Amino acid sequence: MHTHILPKNLPNFADKFGYGDFIYLMHNQDGSANMMQGDKFFRRIQPNCWDPSTRINEYEQFKTQVQVVCTIPVMFSYWAKAQDAKALSEFLNDDLAQLSHDYPQNYLGLGTLPMQDADLAIAELERCKEIGLLGVQIGSNINDKNLSEPEFFPIFEAAQELDMAIMIHPWNMMGMESMRKYWLPWLVGMPAETSRAACSLIFGGVLERLPQLRVCLSHAGGSFLPTLGRVEHGYNCRPDLVAIHNNVNPRQYVGEFWVDSITHDPKLLDYILSMQGSKRVMLGSDYPFPLGDLEIGAFIEEMDLAPNVVEDIFANAALEWLNIDKSRFDLGSTDKDRLRVSEKG
Ligand SMILES: [Zn+2]
Repeated sequence: MHTHILPKNLPNFADKFGYGDFIYLMHNQDGSANMMQGDKFFRRIQPNCWDPSTRINEYEQFKTQVQVVCTIPVMFSYWAKAQDAKALSEFLNDDLAQLSHDYPQNYLGLGTLPMQDADLAIAELERCKEIGLLGVQIGSNINDKNLSEPEFFPIFEAAQELDMAIMIHPWNMMGMESMRKYWLPWLVGMPAETSRAACSLIFGGVLERLPQLRVCLSHAGGSFLPTLGRVEHGYNCRPDLVAIHNNVNPRQYVGEFWVDSITHDPKLLDYILSMQGSKRVMLGSDYPFPLGDLEIGAFIEEMDLAPNVVEDIFANAALEWLNIDKSRFDLGSTDKDRLRVSEKG
């Protein structure tokens, strides 16, 4: 779960649309590429950001066969004109669908939506379903609007109806302008963003009204689960502020949504497991980016967890989140090795 990929060739959408800092790729002599945001350099990426075989081989080293792929959040482009974001989403989603079609044993795709326009977002969500994607990745806020805003509810409602999973990824981090130094938007802003999204979905009543909606919070839920005691206490001591749209204790929702395992910390993952249960924690990596778990769960194997717990994290939780069956995969020997627990019972 939770890996990022781009098409190898990205058209220059800024030229095409005539405005905006849409991301485009400049391929370098040495095989890398520069992601450019307008004239500004955004990030240098390697072939493992776009090449399916390179990625499969790198994953193989960590005994992992299947990657759930989605675009890179900087591609969301919620700031753009909605029609243009729809066109960009279609381009990215078609690429993801093609990839999962060409490599059904290795890739499962999550689309992206023009969330700035609910009607267009729903239309693209329906199209994602038709082209074989299993869900979508959306931002933790949409142009600074929280996910509890009524305009987003029909999108969540459609996702529940269409049986499409929703992954929430932090982006457009709060406080970006005032904390550019020390990578703080990534280290401080991202975990807070994910908690912002979780609290918005809970206090706004989205999860209450859509009990079948299958939501995954990135990075083990960010700061939401570690600060749940505070969140719950706030709900109890100031219901006049907190419980105005949903009168259910936030702790009730723990274990109903899914999280990934990206914690870099066995003790934190233990705590997350104690709250969520192993059926709601999925092996996540954030591959191929340096802040991710690039040993793809090696630390989990060293944690001395019960075999059935490991199997849930490495396979069952994600299968249930995506609502697919294990039988669709013909597991290679390396995966059988990693999931040897299942054969021993
Ligand atoms: Zn990510």
